[in-house]
Amino acid sequence: MGKIDLNQLINESYSLYRDVSLGTLPNYIPELANANPNHFAISVTTLDGKTLSVGESDHKFTIQSISKPFVFSLALDTHGMEKVRARVDVEPTGDPFHSVIRLDAESKRPYNPLVNTGAIAMTDLIEAQTSKIREEKLLYFLETFAGRPLKINEKIYHSEQSTGHRNRAIAYLMLHFKMIGPNLDETLDLYFKQCSIDVNTKDLSVMASTFANNGINPITKKKAMKAEFVKHVLTIMFTCGLYTDAGEWAFDVGFPAKSGVSGGILGVIPGVMGIGIYSPLLDSHGNSIRARKVCEHLSKKLGLHIFDQSNLCS
Ligand code: GLN
Repeated sequence: MGKIDLNQLINESYSLYRDVSLGTLPNYIPELANANPNHFAISVTTLDGKTLSVGESDHKFTIQSISKPFVFSLALDTHGMEKVRARVDVEPTGDPFHSVIRLDAESKRPYNPLVNTGAIAMTDLIEAQTSKIREEKLLYFLETFAGRPLKINEKIYHSEQSTGHRNRAIAYLMLHFKMIGPNLDETLDLYFKQCSIDVNTKDLSVMASTFANNGINPITKKKAMKAEFVKHVLTIMFTCGLYTDAGEWAFDVGFPAKSGVSGGILGVIPGVMGIGIYSPLLDSHGNSIRARKVCEHLSKKLGLHIFDQSNLCS
């Protein structure tokens, strides 16, 4: 990516897609439907600790499913690979994120940690004496990635908690198959909270850059997770990060990423930079339309597809 000016490129991406007004606001979590459809922001953080942004990069939105790779990381960091793999598989499903169908009753594992079943199983692995300490562990872990204190958005949390019956159904079905422990009401509550953490695109780009820097926050220099697990988390993001669009994403865009239903996308370019984008209008898969377009543009312009070898030949 040597000769391209990154600041110019993100500004160009912003202008290119600012007027795209396709897509819909999510409404299954009622409070999310109040998002401003015009909001659009792009941030990138390079491994020398510099963050560049364009648009409403201070605007806060809830992290939603983008929390899932972090909670998977926390589970690996705390319990190690063997215990975590016993609780979750690493296979893409091709089903929507909140599907209740794909549970491997035989192996007693959900398919992967980025669909709700697997994500709730990973939240269940955040163990502590009290629910308050479980919440603190979760927040502290994500804060080390972000390099600043994070807060739960109470409005969204209550909106999600009062309407999250599908997630309750999923959790009870998993209890039936003994995929999660009996403390599931508390685990579900913590899951709703993890989805309701407020971030902006600058935070997402710093969090992504910590993955890109093998688990060390490039700004604070603090170690956020054990380096040995970073490649596994990135693999899951590459194969399962964009819901039912994951295959097409890997094909077209070609770098590990995770989207959330509030309109964020976090992208990781290992050894190079982290990307955070927000725009709340979603496509039929539940991915932000503008954010996806920006990632595709950045990937083409900078040759970010992990299987792109054109730079090697020139
Ligand atoms: N909180 C949302 C849910 O569990 C997260 C989903 C998402 O971002 N796709 O339904």
